[in-house]
Amino acid sequence: MQRLRELARLVEAVFGELEQTFSTYQVSSGLTCKPGCGACCNNPRIEATVLEMLPLALSLYDQGRAEHVYTELEQYSGFACYHFARTSLDGQSGSCSVYSQRPAICRMFGAAAVNGKHGKDRMSVCKVIKAERPKALQAALIDVLELPPPRMTDGKERVRQIDYALGRQDMPINQALKAALEKVLFQACYGTFESTGQVA
Ligand code: SF4
Ligand code: SF4
Repeated sequence: MQRLRELARLVEAVFGELEQTFSTYQVSSGLTCKPGCGACCNNPRIEATVLEMLPLALSLYDQGRAEHVYTELEQYSGFACYHFARTSLDGQSGSCSVYSQRPAICRMFGAAAVNGKHGKDRMSVCKVIKAERPKALQAALIDVLELPPPRMTDGKERVRQIDYALGRQDMPINQALKAALEKVLFQACYGTFESTGQVA
């Protein structure tokens, strides 16, 4: 368990840097999220790695909620991230109920550089921001050399380097959380076995 906690601390440190980099770009370019929007959370296909979900899994464990959430995820068939708290029927509005532990992808999504054709970067801006901030988008595209958007792949790689085995595979976000909880619960059980000689 100690190793998982150490990994989570390293991941959280990178999360802090990513948040700073990507939000600074969004504010400087004017490509900020629409207030109250949750459209990107209303999608269970958002991908994350087990490593990205580790801080959240440990926090749930510390709150005594890990087994409950794990069981719910086993039966979950919703059309959104499990932690999205929707405030509109269509799921386009809402908020993240685990904001401070959200994975790397959620800190970078919105306006960023992604790999384009022939190895060239291209700007990727979510549909909502495109529709809400057309003038800022136009200016950001013109200023792309002076104010280049941060690269999402670099952000993912920063996290991945912390532990390649846990950071290698992207999977749907709810599945990644379930796998992270599985690791935490297994380690909790194994730790008990190590210290007492029997599984509690
Ligand atoms: S973790 Fe939070 S920010 Fe990320 S998809 Fe889920 S609800 Fe949205
Ligand atoms: S990134 Fe786009 S879809 Fe997601 S919350 Fe921001 S504005 Fe909404």
